[in-house]
Amino acid sequence: MRKKVIVVGGGTGGLTAAMLLAHKGLQVTVFEKQNELGGRSGALRMGDYTFDLGCTMLMLKFVLDDIFELVGEKTDDHLVCKRLSPLYQLCFDDLSLNLFSDAEQTKAEFEKHFPGSGHGYELFMHKEKKRFQKLFVGLQQDYSSLSSLFSGTVMAALPYLSIGQSLYRVISRYFAEEPLKIAMTFQSQYLGMSPWDCPGAFAIIPFLEHYYGIYHVQGGINRIPAAMSRIIEKKGGEIHIGSAVRQILIKDKKAAGVVLDDGSVHHADAVIINADIAYSLSQLMTNEHRTRYTPHKLKNLRYSCSTFMMYLGLDKIWQTPAHHMFLFARDVKKNMADIFTHYQLPDDMSVYISNPCISDPSMAPPGKSALYILVPVPNTRAAIDWAQHKELFRDRVFDLLEQRPEFMGLRRHIQRETIITPHNWERDFNIFYGAPFSLAHSLDQMLCFRPRNRFEEIGNCFLVGGGTSPGSGLPTIYESARISTNGILRQYGLAPYPSNPPPH
Ligand SMILES: Cc1cc2nc3c(=O)[nH]c(=O)nc-3n(C[C@H](O)[C@H](O)[C@H](O)COP(=O)(O)OP(=O)(O)OC[C@H]3O[C@@H](n4cnc5c(N)ncnc54)[C@H](O)[C@@H]3O)c2cc1C
Repeated sequence: MRKKVIVVGGGTGGLTAAMLLAHKGLQVTVFEKQNELGGRSGALRMGDYTFDLGCTMLMLKFVLDDIFELVGEKTDDHLVCKRLSPLYQLCFDDLSLNLFSDAEQTKAEFEKHFPGSGHGYELFMHKEKKRFQKLFVGLQQDYSSLSSLFSGTVMAALPYLSIGQSLYRVISRYFAEEPLKIAMTFQSQYLGMSPWDCPGAFAIIPFLEHYYGIYHVQGGINRIPAAMSRIIEKKGGEIHIGSAVRQILIKDKKAAGVVLDDGSVHHADAVIINADIAYSLSQLMTNEHRTRYTPHKLKNLRYSCSTFMMYLGLDKIWQTPAHHMFLFARDVKKNMADIFTHYQLPDDMSVYISNPCISDPSMAPPGKSALYILVPVPNTRAAIDWAQHKELFRDRVFDLLEQRPEFMGLRRHIQRETIITPHNWERDFNIFYGAPFSLAHSLDQMLCFRPRNRFEEIGNCFLVGGGTSPGSGLPTIYESARISTNGILRQYGLAPYPSNPPPH
């Protein structure tokens, strides 16, 4: 008889796993709480404006290509992906840097502003390529047992982990100038971490951006989950939106199905959890089933920061020097300390802006723009009353932006607007502490120290998404789905999917 698998959550991780399992002939059912698929990679629609809710950049596109190929599909038959150049513009008080996926161009930009710095950049690209190749295969591995830590892959990766060194420290070996250090460490914020706390091994993130590029998907990243959902249904999988899971059914310490909010009971041979892991552990299971992740332990794990999001439908085509722009606080270290140490709203903030319409007019009505603004802020562990601060903080973001020539008069052009605060992430999106980049990626919360793909507390239960291994980010989440799917396939005596090393 066909084995039945239920997937809790139709986000990136859940849909990828469902697609891989449906291709192998398993009976797959996805239950998604929202009326839109994709989770944090889904779409936010306001009239004829489309925004990516969270993810705006596709990195390591070859991982997505590989996943599509495994199920007999081609990415390019479903999605139009465009490699961006420049990657982004980085704005400091008195300096703007354009960074490219062409190393020679970036080196020339560094040299133009900081003569002599090109050598450090060459060294960075050379050394970090080696690190990336060693670590990437390690990230494809299943860490569901402690013994996995002693595999040949991990042993080979060990010297490249820069254990005990922060990302900022690793990058400081290549660059002397502060703006260049920021330019090559701010990527820790993709994980919701500070460069001063983020493990040095994550120097692979700036490397992979510079080497493999950043892609825009026409219509937005949300087209990826949309494509996956079509493939799942084509292969016989079922997807139910607007169907929140209330409880995971557990019998004899094994997952046996789910109960939905409407009270209906659905049985399965295995359950995959894609919903935020700390939320799922605290809300979808009772305490008797958890010995390792007790409520006390969950509260005391380390989590990412949160984000204050503004989505603006503008009445004109808004021109910016780049599709992606990062505006840095005058004192980035203090900004990070406000968010991660003092748990207070930063008075000197950093802002990320995505203006996709300059590359892809399809995201807004003709002659208009859909602008996405993200400000890193503390997660809801901080005692910040967002009902009280939301409007004030919004005004502060506009005050900051409108000081710059690129955003002068921005407020006057708003036709539609939505704001998401950390409280929204927590309450509306079921994300523990409103920390949308999940558990922090400190080394003691990674590999087998992160909630495992084959969940250690309950049998027949697997995790996918940013809260399990390898961690947050689209390519790593695709890998989490491959790892967990393989766990299920092996359990039923089916051939697992192969993993491929990165292209050179
Ligand atoms: C603001 C932001 C920007 C980001 N930008 C990027 C980027 O540019 N590039 C990148 O690679 N990564 C980015 N990330 C990180 C990461 O890749 C994304 O967050 C990714 O979408 C997370 O996927 P996931 O599968 O872990 O979770 P999700 O995609 O959020 O999936 C979880 C799903 O579970 C559903 N769910 C929750 N509770 C229930 C329930 N009780 N019953 C049923 N369903 C439920 C949710 O609605 C959701 O659909 C970003 C993250 C954020 C927050």
